[in-house]
Amino acid sequence: MRLAPLILGLALVLGPEAGLSAPPDFQSRLEEADAIRSADPAAFVRALDALDARIDEADTRQRQHLQLLHAYREAFKGDFDGAVALARQLHAEARDPEVKLRSSLLIANSAAATRNFALGLSHLEQSLAATGAADADPRLREQALAVATILYNQFSKYELSRQYADQLIASTTDPRTRCIARQQRLSALRGLGSWPADPAEVQEALAGCEAIGEKVFVSFIRIEMARHMAATGDRDGAEKLLSRHLREAEAAGYARLISEFRSLLAGYRLEKDDLANARKLARSALDIDADSSASLPKVEALEVLYRVAEREGNLPAALDYYRQYAQADKTYLDDVMVRELAFQQSRNEVQQKDQAIALLSKQNQVLKLEQEVARTSAQNTRLLLLLLAVVLAAIGYWAYKIKRVQTRFRILAQTDGLTGIANRRHFRSQAEALLADCEAAGRSAALVLLDLDNFKHINDQHGHAAGDWVLKQVADACHAACREGDLCGRLGGEEFGILSCGADGDAAEAIAQRCRERLAAIDTGLIHHAMPITASFGCTTTAVSGHAFETMFAHADEAMYLAKNSGRDQVRTHAVRTGDGGSRPAITA
Ligand code: GH3
Ligand code: MG
Ligand code: MG
Repeated sequence: MRLAPLILGLALVLGPEAGLSAPPDFQSRLEEADAIRSADPAAFVRALDALDARIDEADTRQRQHLQLLHAYREAFKGDFDGAVALARQLHAEARDPEVKLRSSLLIANSAAATRNFALGLSHLEQSLAATGAADADPRLREQALAVATILYNQFSKYELSRQYADQLIASTTDPRTRCIARQQRLSALRGLGSWPADPAEVQEALAGCEAIGEKVFVSFIRIEMARHMAATGDRDGAEKLLSRHLREAEAAGYARLISEFRSLLAGYRLEKDDLANARKLARSALDIDADSSASLPKVEALEVLYRVAEREGNLPAALDYYRQYAQADKTYLDDVMVRELAFQQSRNEVQQKDQAIALLSKQNQVLKLEQEVARTSAQNTRLLLLLLAVVLAAIGYWAYKIKRVQTRFRILAQTDGLTGIANRRHFRSQAEALLADCEAAGRSAALVLLDLDNFKHINDQHGHAAGDWVLKQVADACHAACREGDLCGRLGGEEFGILSCGADGDAAEAIAQRCRERLAAIDTGLIHHAMPITASFGCTTTAVSGHAFETMFAHADEAMYLAKNSGRDQVRTHAVRTGDGGSRPAITA
């Protein structure tokens, strides 16, 4: 495990939209400084100083961008606590999502150095989540992937690191980003014990970083190569490689890198029993990386120092170095454990978050289904109501139709088909009811019957159709002769009846006379025939016949026949029997 925060190498370029309103010169200088910060650390520091001197020209976003570069510079100097403090402040204050995300990534990438593992992992997860969306800025996504591959290597999560490195290699077109991804991939592969069988892959990674002058990454690739060579028995080759490029690594100016180069070389020297150089290299490894954090190069350098002193027979020094070595080793191993715990905790948090999200989405689904059920049930209720309305309407329609049919049948059963007035049966039942009412009310009533005279002759002379026409005219005449509330009906072939409630004998005769006059007034010229229309009338009243219909009918019929026999076209009223046994004629036509 190597503690190497490599954020300084990330190819972080600000978007073209940045600071359009501000002086272009300041903005372009800012972007230049950002671009060279790992390739040329000395020039980077000079550029920052120059920008600081011109801070008045900067807008808020540019100030924050400059502050971010200062945070990188702190990290580069090895002051990761200072770098993280600046980055956390920026992360809290910056509105710009890119500055915010880069601050987050710097915090994540410094996690190993600041030992703030949980904070770092949580910033990494946030950044990966923020840049994982399909519409996320691909450059920012690449930055998050780069930090992920670096950080997971630092946490010995080589498989995760390799996966993120592969994603990065597949997606990036930026040579610097590809350089980082390949270096991290090699580091992860060595951790996994599956170093590339094809040396060309390693050479390609090395050449890629060399081509763009990324000295830090070139040197770290050489460290991976040397460690692999030493582990597979080629310690001479490993030493040759590192000693040949020591100056170059030192020129990169990165303390941890130099420390690791020197401690490895010290180890190789010790094996050759070159105690003096071994001690010199180990001491210089410790001197250059003076911060208090535990690291593998430090542990390795202290081990070299104690073994050198031991071999030289300097037991007090050997004991002293051994104590320091044991302490550093323990701190380092504790560090590894704490990192593992932080990683597990972070995984748990992520899992809990995922579960909470899954739960929420399930609850959402349930809610949606409930709404769907409510909607469907409302729809069903509406359909049911509609169905009910249709059924009711159908029932109502059929009831109406049936009622109409019944009415039609009733009317058909009650009316005479030819004349449209009541038929005999209906006249009789109506008359009986009316007479009962009159009797109950103590009122009189009169019945007038009429029979057309010589009607057979009309039929015979002018045809049946003419006869029918005459019958209709007679019905109209009877109806017209009636008073309000009187009953009028056709009682047989050419026989009609009128029942008048409240009428006495005179009123009955008046009705009969009116009717007789109307018959006489029928204009048969309308059917182009000349024929007299007369009838014989018979009347009776309840005063004479009582309120029983049958008796009234018989008495009126008797009077009508008397009229017929007396020469027709006249009115006769049934009278109280006289001594001669016949009806007394009242009025004659
Ligand atoms: P009277 O003066 O004695 O009553 O002689 P009449 O010819 O009127 O009496 P009769 O009983 O001899 O003849 C009645 C005729 O009425 C016989 C029948 O053909 C005719 N008649 C009955 N119903 C109808 C009908 O609905 N239409 C037509 N055109 N004739 C009818
Ligand atoms: Mg007759
Ligand atoms: Mg007749």
